[in-house]
Amino acid sequence: MEYTDGFDTAAGFAKTAIELMAENKIPHTPRNFAVWYAHASGREPQMSSVLETLIVGEGVSDDDNAELYSKYLGKDDEAADLQKTSERVDAAVSKVLGFIGEASDGAETYGQSLENNLGEMASADNMDSLRQAVATLVGDTKKMATQNELLHERLENSSNEINTLREHMEEVRAEGLTDGLTNIPNRKAFDITLRQEAMNAMETGEELCLLLCDIDHFKLFNDTYGHHTGDQVLKLVGMILTQNVKGRDTAARYGGEEFAIILPNTSLGAAKNLANQVREAVASKRIRKKSTGEHFGEITMSIGVAKFRGGESLSELIQRSDKGLYQAKDSGRNCVVAEDKLKEPAEG
Ligand code: GH3
Ligand code: MG
Ligand code: MG
Repeated sequence: MEYTDGFDTAAGFAKTAIELMAENKIPHTPRNFAVWYAHASGREPQMSSVLETLIVGEGVSDDDNAELYSKYLGKDDEAADLQKTSERVDAAVSKVLGFIGEASDGAETYGQSLENNLGEMASADNMDSLRQAVATLVGDTKKMATQNELLHERLENSSNEINTLREHMEEVRAEGLTDGLTNIPNRKAFDITLRQEAMNAMETGEELCLLLCDIDHFKLFNDTYGHHTGDQVLKLVGMILTQNVKGRDTAARYGGEEFAIILPNTSLGAAKNLANQVREAVASKRIRKKSTGEHFGEITMSIGVAKFRGGESLSELIQRSDKGLYQAKDSGRNCVVAEDKLKEPAEG
C-alpha cells in the first residue's frame, strides 16, 4: 500500500492511528499500523466500517487485524510480488536466449575452423603440417565439447530457476483465489468459475445450476458464542460443502456467512437433491467447544437453487437463486427453495 500524503497530513493520520491502536490495545506491528493508518486516513471506508463494528463489539483481535490487512490492503503486495516474479522470469528467459546466441556463435566458429583445418589437411604436403592441422582440429573439438557441457549446465540451471518461478507464480495466483478463513475458493474464484461454466453450458448445451446457501441466524450465533467461534463454524461449513461436491462442482465462500455451489452438467432436480444433502449434512453436525465440551446447538442453512438459462446475464441467475434463498428464509429456514417453487415464478 503506497500513500503519497505530505509530511503534516501523514503525521496527523499516524498520530490518530497510534492513539486508536493504544485505545484498542493493538500491538504496533507494521501490518497492524498499515490497517489503522488506512482507517485514520478514511481511505478504506468498507474496512473502516468493519473495524468500527469490531471496536464496539468484541474488540479487534490479532486475527481480525491480519484478515483486514489481507482483505483490504494486501492486494498490492500480491500484485507487486507477481510483478517481481514476472520480471525475474523475463530475466531468466533473456539469459537462456543469450546462452543460445553464444552457443550458435561458438558452433559457427567451430564450423569455420573445421572447414579451414580440413582444407589445410587436404593441401598438406608434408607430415608436419598434416599433424599440425589435426592437432588444431582436436584442440578446437575439445574446446567445442567443453563449451557444450557448460551450455548444458547453464541451461539446466536456468530451466530449474524458471520452474521454481513458475511454481511460485502458481502459488500466488492460487492464494488470490482462495478465501483466507475457510481455505476454499473465494468470491473472485466464484465469479471466474461461474463465467467459465456459463460459457461452457452455452457451448455444449449442458445444464448448469447454482446454489446460494446462507447460514441461519448467524448473527445470533456470533452474539452468543463470539466471533472467533463463529469463524470456526464458517471453516467447518466450508469443509462440509467441499466434501459434498465432486468433479467439476465448485463450493465457494460467496461472502460473510454465505456460500455458493456451482453445479455444471446438473439438472434442477439433481441440484435440489444435492442442496438438501448439503443442508442435512450441515444440520446434523454437532459442534462442541473442545476445551469445555459445551454444545453450540445446531447450525442450519437455507438454500436457493436456480438453473442457468442460455443467454441470460449471470446476475439474473444469481438473483433467481437469491429469491429462492429469501423464500427459504421466509418459510422458516433450514430448507431449500428452487426456482420452480418460487411464489412469484421468475419470468422466462
Ligand atoms: P438469517 O437467518 O436471516 O440469514 O440471519 P443472519 O443473522 O445469519 O443474517 P444477518 O445478515 O443479519 O447476519 C449475518 C451475520 O454473519 C452477521 C455477521 O457478523 C456474520 N458474519 C459475516 N461474516 C463473518 C465472518 O467472517 N466471521 C464471523 N464470525 N461472522 C461473520
Ligand atoms: Mg447473509
Ligand atoms: Mg444468515
